[in-house]
Amino acid sequence: MSKLEEILEFNKNFVENKEYEKYETSKNPKKKMVILSCMDTRLTDLLPRALNIKNGDAKLIKNAGAAIMHPFGSIMRSIIVAVYEFNADEVFVVGHSGCGMCNLNTEGLLQKVKDRGISEETLNTLANGGIDVKGWLHGFDSVEKSIEDSVNMIKNHPLMPEGVAIHGLIIDPATGKLDVHINGYEK
Ligand SMILES: [Zn+2]
Repeated sequence: MSKLEEILEFNKNFVENKEYEKYETSKNPKKKMVILSCMDTRLTDLLPRALNIKNGDAKLIKNAGAAIMHPFGSIMRSIIVAVYEFNADEVFVVGHSGCGMCNLNTEGLLQKVKDRGISEETLNTLANGGIDVKGWLHGFDSVEKSIEDSVNMIKNHPLMPEGVAIHGLIIDPATGKLDVHINGYEK
């Protein structure tokens, strides 16, 4: 059975047995918060449980490394929408120790790109168009620094209103323990 078939079969039973009932909630985050975290598989269930986040409590945004790459990219856009449209008044940037985006081997990754059949010519075309693929794929050197950069980008964003607390936390993907790196209540 393919992964898709497996999912569809499970899904059919899920809906038939009304297992969705225990998840019913609204699109407005009850706890008025946005969480930006990493796509790390260890955090899929651990992060919401360790933060006591239930369905309906928070807007949860995830990407590789919990990093905001661009002040007008999709992550920042999601945060702005959550603040204005869904009344979020606190933002939690939750990075984690042992992140795959920390000291990512971009040379090795680019080699894999080539090994999978992407031509040198394509990479050159991108480079000539001003796209620095290696720089774009690059993660960060330390999770602390990455969290500081993300928190500062949110804090100083021209569309971010006053009165939104921006926190920076680090979660241990083994135990779920949280460390406060930046306390958004402190000025
Ligand atoms: Zn990560």
